[in-house]
Amino acid sequence: MTPATATAPASLDHLSQGLLALLHQADPDVERILAGEADRQASTLELIASENHVSAAVMHVVGSWMTNKYAEGYPGKRYYGGCHFHDQIEDLARERAKRLFGCRFANVQPHCGANANIAAFMALMNPGDRVLSLPIKSGGHLSHGLKPNFSGTFYDIVEYGLDPKTELLDYDAIERIAVESKPKLIICGYSAYSRVIDFARFRAIADKVGAFLMADIAHIAGLVAAGVHPSPFPHAHVVTTTTHKTLRGPRGGLILSDNEEIATKIDRKVFPGSQGGPLMHVIAGKAVAFGEALKPEFKVYSRQVVANSKALAAAMQGHGYRLCTGGTDNHVMLVDLRQRDAELTGADAEKWLESAGIIVNKNGIPNDPRPPMVTSGLRLGTPALTTRGLQEAQMAQVAAWLDRVMVSRGEAGVVRAVREEIRDFCSRFPLPH
Ligand SMILES: *Cc1c(COP(=O)(O)O)cnc(C)c1O
Repeated sequence: MTPATATAPASLDHLSQGLLALLHQADPDVERILAGEADRQASTLELIASENHVSAAVMHVVGSWMTNKYAEGYPGKRYYGGCHFHDQIEDLARERAKRLFGCRFANVQPHCGANANIAAFMALMNPGDRVLSLPIKSGGHLSHGLKPNFSGTFYDIVEYGLDPKTELLDYDAIERIAVESKPKLIICGYSAYSRVIDFARFRAIADKVGAFLMADIAHIAGLVAAGVHPSPFPHAHVVTTTTHKTLRGPRGGLILSDNEEIATKIDRKVFPGSQGGPLMHVIAGKAVAFGEALKPEFKVYSRQVVANSKALAAAMQGHGYRLCTGGTDNHVMLVDLRQRDAELTGADAEKWLESAGIIVNKNGIPNDPRPPMVTSGLRLGTPALTTRGLQEAQMAQVAAWLDRVMVSRGEAGVVRAVREEIRDFCSRFPLPH
């Protein structure tokens, strides 16, 4: 084994420093890996739209005593003894979630967003029932009907698309497909859609064909909670989300509803329907994160996420890149690389940018002629950059680095120079732990 080289950033909070000191004795191999990751996060620009940096409180609660408990069941109705404090923390998380999203029921147990969707599907449908959703190639999520996923395996998936010209949701077309296909469930909410979703219009379509409406707000949950994106309530029958994207909580899932009958079914389909013991340490982290999101500062943060996104979008356009839909209303944008350089691929750009200290993901653009492991696009998002304090003024600099690395086609000297500039820049914007 390589000896531990503690490369952890200087700005770590004292609990994180204590953890590394503990590991130095207990497990130097793990210490080395974790210190490396702490340094990676501190010294690179995180532009993956689905990622964020949690607070020190959220992070350390997830590494707390709450990991030691089996608490199958729900508060007051557990299958194990000793759950007194686990009941309290889960009730607190549920109450805060309901307050945050202005709804009547919350299940905080899903281990992740995909699991939340499994439980929601099971609560609303029988296997074989029809689902109308946007496919992953157009910005949807794999848990909305991709063939190898549970959704595509056990349900009859019908797709809607984006308007090929505007790359926007075409509600008239969605309505036509719904009328023709008579789905049991319609899904809205996406992984790579940069515009506002009209939940009321979706509900009108669902009502017209007698379908349930599920809003999967995994990406925009923080913006919704802060009032920066319209709420899916009272329109959606069920709302599913992750807690770790714009909501800035621990990695996990959440299901919300205003309908008691549906909420009762959802609880049964989370446990025992699709999960065993809940991750109580993560539920404790959710409680802390929801508490943070209820504070006025979170509204300021979320507004800044969108302001930064618009500023970054404009700066990228200034460098000659085409943005899908022509821009963004939220935290994410899809950059079509071909207008800047017809030969540029998402895969190459992702690799070169990582070497320079900019973390992004390649992403297919609507009707992308290149395969999913290559692509012609990048998906960029501002939640993580905004958490570390970047504002509009810094977005021009970020765009300039992105363009410099891509235009150089990953030339070693350019990558090395940008890497050093970014390391220095990041030290002026320390992470919250
Ligand atoms: C991220 C995402 C999910 C799933 O999240 P996991 O926690 O990775 O399972 C579900 N739906 C949408 C729209 C997402 O973007």
